[in-house]
Amino acid sequence: MKSIKSVMENLEKYYRSGATVPVDFRIKTLRDLYNNIKENQNAIIRALSRDLHKPAFETYATEIGIVLDEIRKTCSHLKKWARPKRVSTPMHQFYASSYIIKEPYGTVLIISPWNYPFQLAISPLIGAIAAGNTVMIKPSEISPNTSKIMASIITKSFDSGHVSVVQGDVKTSTEILKQKFDYIFFTGSTVVGRVVMKAAAENLTPVTLELGGKSPALVHKDANLKLAAKRIVWGKFMNAGQTCVAPDYCFIHSEIKEQFTEELCRVIEEFYGDDPSKSSCYARMINQSHYMRVKSYIAQGKVICGGSSNDKSRYIEPTIIEGASPKSAVMCDEIFGPVLPVMFYDDVSTALEFINARPKPLALYIFSASRDFQKHVLKETRAGGVTINDTVVHLVNPKLPFGGVGHSGMGSYHGKYSFDTFSADKPVMIRSTKIDIPFRYPPYSRLKAALIKMFLH
Ligand code: NAD
Repeated sequence: MKSIKSVMENLEKYYRSGATVPVDFRIKTLRDLYNNIKENQNAIIRALSRDLHKPAFETYATEIGIVLDEIRKTCSHLKKWARPKRVSTPMHQFYASSYIIKEPYGTVLIISPWNYPFQLAISPLIGAIAAGNTVMIKPSEISPNTSKIMASIITKSFDSGHVSVVQGDVKTSTEILKQKFDYIFFTGSTVVGRVVMKAAAENLTPVTLELGGKSPALVHKDANLKLAAKRIVWGKFMNAGQTCVAPDYCFIHSEIKEQFTEELCRVIEEFYGDDPSKSSCYARMINQSHYMRVKSYIAQGKVICGGSSNDKSRYIEPTIIEGASPKSAVMCDEIFGPVLPVMFYDDVSTALEFINARPKPLALYIFSASRDFQKHVLKETRAGGVTINDTVVHLVNPKLPFGGVGHSGMGSYHGKYSFDTFSADKPVMIRSTKIDIPFRYPPYSRLKAALIKMFLH
């Protein structure tokens, strides 16, 4: 295996060669990536089934299809995005023209997690390539089958100087972070996000941090309860709850307490049958330590439905609990598994107080028919992104930037936002040499001072 240093040198050399500058070259390599992903769809589905017992449908929708779509759209818009953008010039700089050039940062690092291990490495890669960078990817060691097939697709699609995958655990990651990258894009936990940002600070490397947190769902008494239950159960139990934007816990208006919790349990059965362990639509916990962690949450409340588990297969039944203490681990840690604590409110201000007393979440979900209620919650809370009357789906619109705020992250991507994230804006002003208005030059005078005040006030 090549040393990290030599991989880095190779990426830097390739970048310096200028090979990634032509936009046509970027489009061509993205198309190669598209074709190789298409050709390897079944292998990707098999790898995710081995790593997460992920249903083929979910793998296509959330790992393969989503990145194919992103590549297609990026290729069709890239020439427009990459064009220098003309901007106006203030009168006091007469005569001049101004524009902004989008330039690649250089050699960038992408570190990805295990829960959507294909999509969360490839999606930022699309932006990084579109912007003309060379890229090192460090996928998660916890989803080794997916990391392996991804590495093979990357090797087929790109020169090793353009994109290289370096696999390994924390030790490898630590070694990688000692290199001087021009940009770091990290997706993972808040704890590791801090480590990455510290390492980046050593080299003054800019970062995007796509982190996690506890994303609440608020269900008001006037919501369409049947649809709300369906959409919460879908967003929560997809990938067995191991989704960064899954509703972490649910705040329900007291008047609909029984009706709504019963509906949640009914929908779980409708989706996964009376024994979800036999359902082909339900994933498993990624490994033993995450399994044990999430299993321990079940006992921290009273089980409304679900609650069973299987140590051998790392199965945890879709579970709803109530009465968990705000100080319990299930209400303090990001759950990242198929346990949904529910809480109740009479006055929405108590729910908002609870949410606002905690770090800003990655996502927030509001279920209500009232525009005033929706607006009130939007105004009174901060979150990386919001979906009203559904869960998760704000992230599939490439016209919306996806990212966190505060503890749930910084920066954003998807669609053009990915291209912008991986591009540095270079502002350029071209001055005419035909006219030179002299009022800025010393010696200063009262007239010059009056003129400057006329323009800049
Ligand atoms: P993690 O932070 O443990 O690991 C992420 C990556 O960092 C992995 O590649 C891992 O090898 C590497 N890593 C781990 N420890 C490291 C260290 N000390 N130094 C350097 N690198 C290190 O996260 P995870 O368990 O893989 O993923 C789950 C977390 O990611 C959850 O918090 C989830 O909310 C978050 N997440 C966020 C998004 C998002 O888009 N915002 C998406 C998916 C997951």
